[in-house]
Amino acid sequence: MSSFFNNLFKKSRSLPGLDARFFATVDCDGCGECERRCPTGHIKMVEGRPVWPKPCLLCASCGSVCPNDAIRYATEKDIEEYWRLVNESQQNSEE
Ligand code: SF4
Ligand code: SF4
Repeated sequence: MSSFFNNLFKKSRSLPGLDARFFATVDCDGCGECERRCPTGHIKMVEGRPVWPKPCLLCASCGSVCPNDAIRYATEKDIEEYWRLVNESQQNSEE
């Protein structure tokens, strides 16, 4: 399921606007590698998941070191839509 959403997200969201930010998809297992490898300390692990509290250098190191290919860059609106689809799918699979 996660690959389905991640592929969908990659295809349909190409050039995020200025309000874009990083986020971790459902494939994130909380390993913390992105936090350790960020050269500027912009990533913080909160309750086992990475957050990007402020804009950064956009060096892309976090995305390249993630062992689960779980890091994406998108607008707040598209991130909300991503989680809406994930939650909807999870609810359907429980029915
Ligand atoms: S893009 Fe670079 S600076 Fe920004 S959070 Fe990722 S690793 Fe850190
Ligand atoms: S490196 Fe990837 S899997 Fe590990 S905490 Fe960061 S986003 Fe999650």
